[in-house]
Amino acid sequence: MRLVLLGPPGAGKGTQAQRLVEFLQVPHLSTGDMLRQAINQGTPAGMHAKGFMDQGKLVPDETVLRLVEERLSQPDCGAGYLLDGFPRSVPQATALDEFLATRGQPLDGVVEMEVDEHEVVQRMMARGRGDDQPDVIRQRMATYRQQTKPLSDYYRGRKLLHLIDAMGTVDEVSSRMRATIEQMKSPPR
Ligand code: AMP
Repeated sequence: MRLVLLGPPGAGKGTQAQRLVEFLQVPHLSTGDMLRQAINQGTPAGMHAKGFMDQGKLVPDETVLRLVEERLSQPDCGAGYLLDGFPRSVPQATALDEFLATRGQPLDGVVEMEVDEHEVVQRMMARGRGDDQPDVIRQRMATYRQQTKPLSDYYRGRKLLHLIDAMGTVDEVSSRMRATIEQMKSPPR
């Protein structure tokens, strides 16, 4: 299955993605992880991305799209994948649709994790990653609201959107996700 996982920063996308890919037996494609890896390796893409990430802003599409298209072209993505953190804006979603259309491999669905914003900020403060400083968290939430949240309507319009209540324990949320994905595989008549 070719799936996208959406949700605000701190919603637990990474944790849930790890469980989902085990369940689905597909690779986990996190653009945040790819970019952090590029930074650690000192690649040109990483050097370009770092300043944007440190400020909680989106890395320019050209850089991100190149990473994603390269990754999606690898053989292990043939049976599907779970995209986490990408697309993050309508232009990225449009670019992804065009890329997948040329291969005749459209997305099967988009799962959006819905959370309470206050709770999300608490979770991020507890995580303590480099870009989890309070002002950067605020900027990332603003970026999310302005650029990423419009993707709900974008995918709703394409009849791909599935909303999940992402409040609760990791186990609770992960079983809701599995149920939703099972339903996607065999939709009720
Ligand atoms: P994440 O690990 O998904 O929270 O991403 C961490 C940071 O990486 C974000 O705040 C952005 O600066 C950058 N990033 C990750 N994915 C994307 C994307 N699809 N487009 C632009 N920037 C991204």
